[in-house]
Amino acid sequence: MTVIYNRVALIGLGHIASSMFWGIKRAGLAGEITGYARSAETREIARDIGLCDRVCDSAAEAVEDADLVVLCVPVGAMGAVAAEVAPAMKPGATVTDVGSVKRHVIDTVGPHLPQGVHFIPAHPLAGTEHSGPRSGFAELFDNRWCLIVPVEGSDPDAIDRVVRLWQGLGSNVDQMDADHHDLVLAVTSHAPHLIAYTMVGVADDLRRVTDSEVIKYSAAGFRDFTRIAASDPTMWRDVFLSNKDATLEILGRFTEELFALQRAIRTGDGAHLHEYFTRTRAIRRGIIEAGQDTDAPNFGRGAAR
Ligand code: NAP
Repeated sequence: MTVIYNRVALIGLGHIASSMFWGIKRAGLAGEITGYARSAETREIARDIGLCDRVCDSAAEAVEDADLVVLCVPVGAMGAVAAEVAPAMKPGATVTDVGSVKRHVIDTVGPHLPQGVHFIPAHPLAGTEHSGPRSGFAELFDNRWCLIVPVEGSDPDAIDRVVRLWQGLGSNVDQMDADHHDLVLAVTSHAPHLIAYTMVGVADDLRRVTDSEVIKYSAAGFRDFTRIAASDPTMWRDVFLSNKDATLEILGRFTEELFALQRAIRTGDGAHLHEYFTRTRAIRRGIIEAGQDTDAPNFGRGAAR
């Protein structure tokens, strides 16, 4: 048990905040953890389930005397929440966040923070399609990456403590520049989510024609799309609106490739299709060889039905 911060304040009490709470408790990384969410309903649930040592009725009360304040709200709400907590923060404290987009958070949160308060943005690459205060669990961050995105001139000690917090939560930690982070995430997470949303939308249209066959005969591939497309609508609306440029860049490339494959199918260009699928298969092999995923069929989840 190594206490890294005497007092941590979690602002927003959803999936990520509740997982952080249980994870911090598991490893004994903080003395006291306070929490605040905007709705009385969420605060009530938090009190009921013992989420946070103390649930406060205002953000200002929650951050008073906190050594670390973690902003755990949708990306589009980060700026307003930072404005709310900033005047109540003690000098020398650190603000971090868990937002899925970094440039927008840095631009909207940074200006509200007073001199003497450190700002160390972060993004845990972990989460499920569930949301809300009941959905968190201590193991969520185990063996997952957490990307720390320090702003220019950040205090090395403040960075080091945030790094140790995430390591204590079970994560592997890397540091990255904000714009690079947003491009990498557009490729690995944001664009794939949009594609899943689209595919489920298309199948939903089709279902009207084919009755319930789309669900009845749904193979694992499509089922995985429906799981991704069940993610929180507010969170994902904010991700796309705040990572506009990188997402549009990747979707532009995606559309070009899709058109090329479409043409190959129409013209019967089997060589093009075979060559393309051979290249993508090699990428999958590379991921397994790098130890970043399992070689077990269907990701080790048993036979696909
Ligand atoms: P969540 O479970 O939906 O919880 C969101 C929390 O933010 C709730 O406590 C909610 O309060 C509060 N909130 C929502 N809108 C707000 C607003 N306009 N002003 C103030 N508070 C507001 O969300 P989450 O999955 O924990 O996501 C939180 C952050 O983590 C997001 O920035 C997201 O990008 C990032 N993230 C998510 C994942 C993931 O897979 N879920 C992974 C990595 C990072 P009420 O309950 O009172 O409404």
